[in-house]
Amino acid sequence: MRPLIAGNWKMHKSRAEAQALATALVRGLPNPLEGIDVAVFPPFTAISDVVGAVGDTDIQVGAQNFYPEDAGAFTGEVSPPMLLDAGCTMVLCGHSERRWVLGEDDAFVNRKVLAALAHDILPILCVGEKLEERESGETAAVIEAQLKAGLEGVTAANAAHITVAYEPVWAIGTGLTASTAQAGEVHAQIRGLLNERFGPAGSGIRILYGGSVKAANAAELLGTPEIGGVLVGGAALDGPGFCKIAAAGIG
Ligand code: PEP
Repeated sequence: MRPLIAGNWKMHKSRAEAQALATALVRGLPNPLEGIDVAVFPPFTAISDVVGAVGDTDIQVGAQNFYPEDAGAFTGEVSPPMLLDAGCTMVLCGHSERRWVLGEDDAFVNRKVLAALAHDILPILCVGEKLEERESGETAAVIEAQLKAGLEGVTAANAAHITVAYEPVWAIGTGLTASTAQAGEVHAQIRGLLNERFGPAGSGIRILYGGSVKAANAAELLGTPEIGGVLVGGAALDGPGFCKIAAAGIG
């Protein structure tokens, strides 16, 4: 399975800045991409510019969020058909900033996973424990609960169309990275749960790691069993730095 190197730009970059960053990636990454998949998740306002900048390269463009209804009176929200119309192929679901800053619960995250699948948009289901949960020995229980709730109603036939990201909340944007032992243990747990849930189809699901990934630690993380890619926040805002992370994925 080719690793996915994904960049979450969060609430950063004007349209011109996003276009410049996407152009830097087009210039800095091999075309066609060899041995890796690459996706970027710009803010909504810059999605069309980034789709234009990546053109017909293999770089995919995703959205950081959406509302799980096709249309309606949902002021301020963006629907799956709108994402498709803008050129998105993927969407983040359950990112910890949406769970813990913006109040999304497991049931809502699950609605988003199902809505994305219904529209052939690949959901990246993010799960991860907070620091206090790790310190009190609850990591495995938290991961299992988030994963099971997020995947409620997802069939084995859909398993090929989802990605999971393990993102320990204490490692996001903090500069702290899970050790390969810590990440490897949770990734192995997630793989076990996916196999249990989907049978053979579970082994085809990519499991990303996210949490302060940078050029200096990407190769070690990507070399860890069951880490099938990385979801990068802060370090994805710099073109050359993100290209180095992608190069680590090529190996
Ligand atoms: C993220 O936003 O998903 C993330 C992992 O951020 P950072 O790499 O900055 O920790």
